[in-house]
Amino acid sequence: MKLTVSVAVSDSTGDNVVVAELHRDGAVTAASLGLTLAEAKELLRGVQRQLVQAQLALHVETQRTCRACGTRRQVKERRRARFKSLFGGVPVSVARLRSCGCPDAASGAKTLIPEGLNRWVAPELEYVESWLAAKVSYARSSDLLTQLLPADVGSSTSTVRRRTLAVGKRLEKELRETKDAPAPGAEKDSATVIAAGLDCGHVRSCCPQSGRSFEVVVGRILGRGASSRSLGFVRTIEKSAQSRDRIRWRVAQEGATTDGLTVFTDGDEDLRRLQLAVLPNAEHILDWYHLTRKLTVLKNVVCGKEAVAKLPPHHQHKLYLGLSSLKWRLWHGQHARALSKVKELQRILRLPTVRNKPTARRLRPLLGKLFKFLKSNADSLPDYGKRYREGKRIATSFVESAVNQLVDKRMSKSQQMRWSRKGAHLLIQVRTEVVDGRLTSHFERWYPGFRGVDVALEVA
Ligand SMILES: [Zn+2]
Repeated sequence: MKLTVSVAVSDSTGDNVVVAELHRDGAVTAASLGLTLAEAKELLRGVQRQLVQAQLALHVETQRTCRACGTRRQVKERRRARFKSLFGGVPVSVARLRSCGCPDAASGAKTLIPEGLNRWVAPELEYVESWLAAKVSYARSSDLLTQLLPADVGSSTSTVRRRTLAVGKRLEKELRETKDAPAPGAEKDSATVIAAGLDCGHVRSCCPQSGRSFEVVVGRILGRGASSRSLGFVRTIEKSAQSRDRIRWRVAQEGATTDGLTVFTDGDEDLRRLQLAVLPNAEHILDWYHLTRKLTVLKNVVCGKEAVAKLPPHHQHKLYLGLSSLKWRLWHGQHARALSKVKELQRILRLPTVRNKPTARRLRPLLGKLFKFLKSNADSLPDYGKRYREGKRIATSFVESAVNQLVDKRMSKSQQMRWSRKGAHLLIQVRTEVVDGRLTSHFERWYPGFRGVDVALEVA
């Protein structure tokens, strides 16, 4: 059996072009039933080639006639290009028209490139590549695309990386251009931002000269209702003014009013400064989760094998009780009493029978740091218990999940990947939009008429 698929071009030429011939002989088997992937790729490529070439031929014809004088302009030269799309690469010849002599600017010599087209790459290809690369590694994205798309699309690892980072760059450029204007789609007059959280993640660096890893700041802004907006940047790349703009822009996208806004951080000084610069009237709260994590580290030392074996039992027990009491005091917002409890623990560690034990040597700097930390964050320690009972937020689980979604899942140490600061920064910009489900809207803005393929991709 032979099945011929042809495309009829209904223009003046009226060509009928065969794009694929499918042969099936012998018994129907599981493998021979229906189209194979290779045939489907070939078929799509054939159709795409005919469509693109017919569209471009028509485009040149309509552009040739000058609207002012009606002259049919001559083609000065043609150069070759390759249009890259999800359905294969199509060789195209790009015409350059001579001027007809009219004073009208539109009638001057010009190269006929379809409006908005960027380096002859279809927006859909750019979209799918950056969407995938924001989720999985460049190499895996490239593998997947090579498996599913016609071979000559050019989805090598380096191409996927380059195109994805170009999308990141475009998002960055927009951010800088619109920093003082309301962001696109930010006209939510009545919306209110209720909480914001800032936190840091770490990414392995690819150039060991500048440290083994670098810090990525991520944040999430929660509006009333279920709306939320993420943000992220590499701390050393972004100047403080730029990070301020980024946060301000994102807050503006979630709502016009920020009354009663609560900002959660882990107490990091730089993050705090950032918050004061952008949202000076917000209430700053030290995230309970980060606070207890510090206590857990101390507790693990106090209850560790070494401590149990080497410390005098009653002192070890006292340290343990002291830590529990410290946690209780912090939970109830008793800041001064918490500090005196830390001092009490430090006194125990100075006792002659305890002083020289390895546990004491490990605990002393930890307690010293904790004391400093609590002291400098005195104004950010609320009565967590009361807030909790009132159903108010005490922990930045929503920021933790932002770190996880934006940084850890794609760039974590476990993935064995190393990053340049710039590469990580630009990828985070794309990933932020993908996580927030807004990448499509950017493409729709950049390429009028573009239709998102989010749903189809999610299913895939
Ligand atoms: Zn003319």
